[in-house]
Amino acid sequence: MKNILKILFLILFLGYFFVFNSSILLAKTKSSNLSKNPSQEYIYHTVRRGETLESIAKRYGVSVSEIRRWNKLRRGKVKVGQRLIVGVKEAKEEEKAKKEAIKKEEAKEEAIYHIVKRGETLDKIAKKYGISVKELKELNNLKSNKVYVGQKLIIKKEEKIEVKKTKTEKISEKEYIYHTVRRGETLESIAKRYGVSVSEIRRWNKLRRGKVKVGQRLIVGVKEAKEEEKAKKEAIAVSDIEKAFSELERKYESFLSNPQTTRTDWLKLLSEYRRLYLLYPSSYVAPKAILKTANIYFHLYKNFSDSESLNKAIERYRFLIRNHPRSSEAEEAYYRLIQIYREEVKDKEKEKSLTEEFKAKYLKSVYISKLEERVEAKEKESKKIEKKLKTKKPQKELVKKIAREPPKEIPKETAKEKIALLTVTPKKVLEVHPITGEDYSRVIINVSDNFEYQANILKGDKERPPRIYVDIYPAILDSKVSKEIDIKDALLTGIRVAQFDEKTVRVVLDLNSLTSYKIFKLREPYQLVLDLIGKEKIQKSYAKEVPKKGEPKKEEYINLARQFGLGIKRIVVDPGHGGEDPGAVGPSGLKEKEVTLTLAKMLAQKLRNQLGIEVILTREEDKFIPLIQRPAIANSKKADLFISIHTNASPDSKGRGIETYYLNFTTDPEAMRVAALENAASDKSLSDLQDLIKAILVNTKLSESRMLAEKVQKELVKTLSRYYPDTIDRGVKSAPFLVLVGTRMPAILVEVGFISNPVEEKRLKDQQYLEMVVEGIAKGIEIYMQSLKFSQTYYEKKS
Ligand SMILES: [Zn+2]
Repeated sequence: MKNILKILFLILFLGYFFVFNSSILLAKTKSSNLSKNPSQEYIYHTVRRGETLESIAKRYGVSVSEIRRWNKLRRGKVKVGQRLIVGVKEAKEEEKAKKEAIKKEEAKEEAIYHIVKRGETLDKIAKKYGISVKELKELNNLKSNKVYVGQKLIIKKEEKIEVKKTKTEKISEKEYIYHTVRRGETLESIAKRYGVSVSEIRRWNKLRRGKVKVGQRLIVGVKEAKEEEKAKKEAIAVSDIEKAFSELERKYESFLSNPQTTRTDWLKLLSEYRRLYLLYPSSYVAPKAILKTANIYFHLYKNFSDSESLNKAIERYRFLIRNHPRSSEAEEAYYRLIQIYREEVKDKEKEKSLTEEFKAKYLKSVYISKLEERVEAKEKESKKIEKKLKTKKPQKELVKKIAREPPKEIPKETAKEKIALLTVTPKKVLEVHPITGEDYSRVIINVSDNFEYQANILKGDKERPPRIYVDIYPAILDSKVSKEIDIKDALLTGIRVAQFDEKTVRVVLDLNSLTSYKIFKLREPYQLVLDLIGKEKIQKSYAKEVPKKGEPKKEEYINLARQFGLGIKRIVVDPGHGGEDPGAVGPSGLKEKEVTLTLAKMLAQKLRNQLGIEVILTREEDKFIPLIQRPAIANSKKADLFISIHTNASPDSKGRGIETYYLNFTTDPEAMRVAALENAASDKSLSDLQDLIKAILVNTKLSESRMLAEKVQKELVKTLSRYYPDTIDRGVKSAPFLVLVGTRMPAILVEVGFISNPVEEKRLKDQQYLEMVVEGIAKGIEIYMQSLKFSQTYYEKKS
């Protein structure tokens, strides 16, 4: 009791002492010059290996005590990587003059240009800017009305004066960003680092030559006053979406008017619309973008005799009605759906029920009268045709004529009906893709549309090996699929594919021996995934050593030791996205797929060098690899850890920070949004995935994955915060990521910053930031490995 009291007093005393002292410290700082003058700017230095406070002070011509005061340092020691204030700069007359000069120069450069885009004519461009074609031609010395894509046109010279004024006003509220030149740096490398051009740096610093000296301080950017910046950013967030959307709308219009637009062009545009509504699901453009994807599918059906697209269009319209019922686009979707059932599918019942549903929901919709008009017009037309037939040719004669004609030629009306029929029936098996390894194989079957399936396992006998077969129906086999795939791996020896009957495709997997398997279906794209799972050797050997009685925690340790008895020797690092899938794109155009590949390569190097681990990348170049293949790569290579690297994106351009995910179902809408973004999937397929994960999670390394995620997140935030004190820790979360489904080792997905945030996008271009990211992740992995070793020795001692 006495002891407790003593401790209590001690705590109270210490607390008082601390508070007292920090108030002194605060008072001191307040009275120092530092915070008196708000116009002051600080000079920073990042401590490098071998540097001391003394050497730094000497370098910047200040005293050690000044540096200690500015940085509130109690001890004289500094750490490598620590960022210190090493000087204070006041706005000097000279600098003011410099600023003025820059303002003038900046204003001079201002003029409005337009880059000609596909489908644009002089007339369109002139209209867009509210000037005449004549003016436009004069300004650009054009003799004819021809323009070419990519041409830079001057729009208005007179604008200069106006712009000059506003620009000057704005600039006076700006602060500059400085950089002190370090060894080995060039103007080019500095410009790249700060995302500005060399000529900008030269202009800001009045540099005549391209050379810079070590220690030279350069203006490398312009910072705007915070309030203004905030307002501006918010404006950008909205206008960015608008800009992106209207850009797509322009493309859409020009595609429509250009008969040479290919199917691929349309599909690309479609995926851009899709990307937009995934990125900004709650913005007002989302329903508009969904409507466009549906319209494009319908267009493909009509113009490229692509019958599968009709089903997709129907599915998109329904998706829109379900997810955005209050938007005006939902009304249009109803209207178009009813048209499709009436004119394409010719399903009277569906047409009727849908019309009733529509009328009940949207009493006053303009589309209701539109629908009725169309019905009347159609009836009139068909009456006309009937009349024509009756007057000109008797029915009998017509029948005779058809009978005489060769059987290939079908009357037009029937052909149309056939297309409509086709759209409801066949789905194609497009690809059978195996990824195999010693004790694991995944077979991915791509199907063009929704399908049913049934799987069976056969024990085999003396003559035939054990096998698994899957029937997919209704479906036909695409001619490109090879009928036999030779494999000869430990589990799987071959795959045979065949059209079993007119509606069923059968895929047979020949096995070496009877093995357990998992099968699941995914939507958009439609896939059937088969995982064959061999026996885990390690698990077997430990299985006998189940402890009798003891501490409750022991089991946990055993679990770990069992799974990692052999330690971590091989890691698969997965750079997110690639090839046709750019991932999220930042405001200045930086692509996620580029950042993730750079980071993955750097991380691989670091893990190899520092921890002596074998590292395999899922992709070494800018190449598209379907999500569902990525965990299979890790499984088949028997990796001990799986790390998928991504950058985050948010419709809110202020959204920022670091988060790490492991696979699990979630109820957090924000985590769901990120999963939708990373899976590039609709809400519907996501909810499928949630169910799927609940079902198959039993076998995945849930707690280990969470533990790994926690270590990596912690170290990543810690390392980054040293250089970037404003780093935000968004924590460890779970969500249904396709890229983690079926992994047999601890697996995580790291979001190393928001590419949609201008500040973080800039950092993601910065070599130093990337190095810190890699260092943080590697450190997290290292600590995770150490914790395993600890639990292993703990277990060994106890048993
Ligand atoms: Zn991503």
